Amino acid sequence: MTARLLFGRPLPGSVGEWRRVVHIFEVPAGNTLPERLTALCGTSFGPGELESLGRPTGMPCESCLRRVATH
Ligand SMILES: [Zn+2]
Repeated sequence: MTARLLFGRPLPGSVGEWRRVVHIFEVPAGNTLPERLTALCGTSFGPGELESLGRPTGMPCESCLRRVATH
């Protein structure tokens, strides 16, 4: 099964503005998302904690970027 990449960041107000970097998530292909998403850097988000983005925008999470580059 192929995986796809998702981009998302914490919802406004859930964390400090400086922590609202865009994380990269690897999720299984298909329409259903796991209830809990864990970014490549290890940060995990539960339902309602993540603002999902159609494409990378804003400040990326450097740890995620490093991992996706060496994936
Ligand atoms: Zn990250």
